[in-house]
Amino acid sequence: MRRADPTMTRRAALGLATRGAVAAAGAGALARASAAVAQTPGSEAPVLSRGRTKVVVLGSHGGQQETQLTGANLRCGTSVLIDVAGELLVVDCGVGSLHRLVEAGYDANQVRHVLVTHHHQDHTADLGNFAGFGWASGPNGGDPRRRMDLYGPTGTRAYERGYKLLAGLSIADQEGPLGQVPTFRAFARWHEFRPPKRGRRLLSTSRFTVHAIRVTHGGMPSVGYRVRTPDLDLVFSGDRGYGRDRFASFARGADAMFHEIIDRELVVRTLRAQGATSGFIRHLIEDHCSPDEAGRTATAAGVETLVLYHLIPANPGITDDAWRSMVQPQFGGRIVVSRDLQVV
Ligand SMILES: [Zn+2]
Ligand SMILES: [Zn+2]
Repeated sequence: MRRADPTMTRRAALGLATRGAVAAAGAGALARASAAVAQTPGSEAPVLSRGRTKVVVLGSHGGQQETQLTGANLRCGTSVLIDVAGELLVVDCGVGSLHRLVEAGYDANQVRHVLVTHHHQDHTADLGNFAGFGWASGPNGGDPRRRMDLYGPTGTRAYERGYKLLAGLSIADQEGPLGQVPTFRAFARWHEFRPPKRGRRLLSTSRFTVHAIRVTHGGMPSVGYRVRTPDLDLVFSGDRGYGRDRFASFARGADAMFHEIIDRELVVRTLRAQGATSGFIRHLIEDHCSPDEAGRTATAAGVETLVLYHLIPANPGITDDAWRSMVQPQFGGRIVVSRDLQVV
């Protein structure tokens, strides 16, 4: 896979992204790509955050970090932060999301709850980092009661074992000679569950109530989440194929839906040109939602606001208006095309 040249100017990078991503695509995709505009993180007024609840998109990119699909104007991997009066919950931990958290003005040791939708790497690349750096950063010797609860479907225990193995020397050093308390085991509490066919409550505090439901995503155990705070009621699709789960009814009555989205035409043509395997292309087509399908899901759920995240591709040449116009035939409410560090 080609890597971005760090010396490349943004204009040149956009050109590469446009050529790479759209080379084999049709005139419609070319028209969308040619309308590339500068995107300023956080420049819009928040549409959801209210009361004591603030929602920050840490990473808006779906899938792998393919240079030819994204250009140098990279988005980080899927991740959303919900801050209720200083109690932090993160949904998914895609690559780069820990850095985005810090850019947003927070520190890993402030994160109290982590929810993982499934164990594809574009959702978990920084999961161990959230646990490890949450444990190690901040007042690591000052409060032995500190803890982080990490929830995820089948595969979470294996991830926990793997992380403890790869970070084992560091953990042993920090707990031993460096005298860090509490122990990593006492700090990071991992909770694996089987994806439930009907909504199931996972946790409840004075600031968060979280339910999970199984969503269909190929052979990968996957869930969507519903997160209620005193001010907001939000649902997150994670990754899902359309029409084979109860996600829309699970989401009914929520204030807003975060839903993944894929521009199939552009992605398929690009990946074919790159020689991707048919299995990988089929996964992208069948196990993710098109703009029509994301719009239909939001309409079926009756939400007022649809926040598009996990954008595939995250090519900066696809403007917010282009994404919106693809969804609008199926959804008449407010559509937010999220970007990294946006306070929604
Ligand atoms: Zn994904
Ligand atoms: Zn996935």
